[in-house]
Amino acid sequence: MDLTFSEGEAAFRDELRGWLEENPPDPKPESGGEAALSEWRRAWQRRLYDAGWAAPSWPTEYGGRGCTPTESAIYFEEIGRARVPLAANVLGLLLGGPTLMVWGTDEQKERYLAPILSGEEIWCQGFSEPEAGSDLASLKTRAVKRGDEWVVTGQKVWTSGAQHAKWCMLVARTDSEVPKHKGLSYFVMDMEQDAVQVRPLRQITGESEFNELFIEEAQIPDANVRYACASCSTTLWRPPPSGACSRTRCTPTRSQTCTCAASRSGCWRGRG
Ligand SMILES: Cc1cc2nc3c(=O)[nH]c(=O)nc-3n(C[C@H](O)[C@H](O)[C@H](O)COP(=O)(O)OP(=O)(O)OC[C@H]3O[C@@H](n4cnc5c(N)ncnc54)[C@H](O)[C@@H]3O)c2cc1C
Repeated sequence: MDLTFSEGEAAFRDELRGWLEENPPDPKPESGGEAALSEWRRAWQRRLYDAGWAAPSWPTEYGGRGCTPTESAIYFEEIGRARVPLAANVLGLLLGGPTLMVWGTDEQKERYLAPILSGEEIWCQGFSEPEAGSDLASLKTRAVKRGDEWVVTGQKVWTSGAQHAKWCMLVARTDSEVPKHKGLSYFVMDMEQDAVQVRPLRQITGESEFNELFIEEAQIPDANVRYACASCSTTLWRPPPSGACSRTRCTPTRSQTCTCAASRSGCWRGRG
């Protein structure tokens, strides 16, 4: 296998290396605590964004450069080599944004992708729970449909950057009657509501990179859920490979609402 960079990859590296040398971040703040550090990283992301370097692996239609995996590896290698920080919104750029690109509606892409890329809106990830870290399917946070919204109650832990986040990509249980690895749905939850309390976990270094989230009847509009299943087995990301619903023999697709007889309120809420 030849691992030598192609001419295009070498040119990509040289362009990025040159840009990083000419555009270093402002000096790291020495006072102001974590809030100042967070603002510093946000300002750095804004500079990367203005030059088209915030997320080079994103497709060009969403503001990226459409980089190949090798170019992405070069990107992170050069960021490390230059000893500059990663963009502030790392979870939005690497997880939340790409998820919406594949599974989001046009409205969701329009609403969320640009502020993720610019760092205007920071995202955090609410998957892990006190007794469900590696074993995600054990999570207990529940989301119950009430009218046009979902009401969420539960606890999350290890939520990196939650204290700076506007949005949380949250996984919660929407159906407790199916095997535990089913009946889970993915939500985009607004962190700016009293029902969501963020408690920092102080590390031995004195920093609080991680947090606990205490969620008491948080509200999430129906437009912010992907693949909630009210009556048949829910798969978190996509319909079952056969296209058949395992409980009800309905055949939902990404663009359909399930019409199975047992459906309590239409099971397949994927829009796309
Ligand atoms: C730097 C960092 C940042 C993180 N940021 C976030 C974040 O932003 N959001 C978020 O949601 N999470 C975050 N996490 C949590 C992380 O993604 C894991 O979910 C979590 O660390 C694992 O949970 P735990 O620590 O409770 O370990 P446990 O789940 O208790 O696992 C401990 C050990 O038991 C094993 N184990 C667990 N369950 C089973 C099982 N059923 N069968 C057999 N073996 C099992 C595991 O493999 C592991 O070896 C972060 C973690 C790190 C290290």
